[in-house]
Amino acid sequence: MNEEDKNKIKAYSKKTPLYLSRRKFNPQGVLVEVQCISCKEFKSIDDYSKNKIEIDGIEIKCKRCKSSK
Ligand SMILES: [Zn+2]
Repeated sequence: MNEEDKNKIKAYSKKTPLYLSRRKFNPQGVLVEVQCISCKEFKSIDDYSKNKIEIDGIEIKCKRCKSSK
């Protein structure tokens, strides 16, 4: 899969209701909060570690859930 296809998939994934329901954006459309897949709490993106593989470039679990395992 080339880079262009990957970007298309990412762009498409960011428009799905499931994706949007787990995120909060500010009026400028900037991502500010993400719902942790583990504890289901909305947390600032600062509470997530970076992960290039994930769609937003951050982990799907917050730092606390990530470390309490
Ligand atoms: Zn969590």
